[in-house]
Amino acid sequence: MIDYTQNLDQPVRNALTDNHQNERKLTFLERLYIPEILKGMAYTFKQMFKPDVTMRYPEERWDPPAIFRGRPVLVKDNGKERCVACGLCARACPPLAISMQAAETDDEKERFPDFFEINMLRCIYCGFCEEVCPEEAIVMSKDYDLVYHSRGDAIYDKERLLVDKEDLKDRLDFLKQYKNRQFGQFWNFKEENNIHSVRNRDENWDTGLSLVDMLEAKNKESKN
Ligand code: SF4
Ligand code: SF4
Repeated sequence: MIDYTQNLDQPVRNALTDNHQNERKLTFLERLYIPEILKGMAYTFKQMFKPDVTMRYPEERWDPPAIFRGRPVLVKDNGKERCVACGLCARACPPLAISMQAAETDDEKERFPDFFEINMLRCIYCGFCEEVCPEEAIVMSKDYDLVYHSRGDAIYDKERLLVDKEDLKDRLDFLKQYKNRQFGQFWNFKEENNIHSVRNRDENWDTGLSLVDMLEAKNKESKN
């Protein structure tokens, strides 16, 4: 242990001493080095006959699994964005990469983002935006090779962010499973639940109950 009372101008003894637990004495053969070099060469020779694990990028491209978090994108559902411009994703985003402006519409969902931007120079691919979105409107895509020619290029507007839901099927299916594992005891996560409207919000929702009370009420209902 370092004695902080000592003169700090003096060099402190390195913690890696002969007594260090991870150190061990080399055997005679190891000290000769030649057997170790031969062992290394044999290992390299063995690897030469194994299948390649590297890819010839960009000619060959890696298809990441559904759990992969690439560039965040907005989900386009039947030609329209699912986003209702609630602002939760912008609020949750640690580096403040998301900005948007809400506008009203006569559609069932009532609101939509007039503009929606993600500054990809700030994004840290944390997935918080996806996690908090109540509409499954922003998800992490498989897009991983991003190149920009200028700082302005890295700011993705709504048009560049929108991706058809059919192209995001893997991730949306993964999220369905993932969210049901987390919240399945309270509600069954379904895509059709994605349209939340304040016009009919209170029809089936008793705002006086906590989630635990709601679960109890639901259990009682199912027993009767
Ligand atoms: S992935 Fe994280 S950093 Fe990137 S936009 Fe979403 S919340 Fe922000
Ligand atoms: S959390 Fe979802 S619905 Fe709300 S603004 Fe973000 S993308 Fe849109």
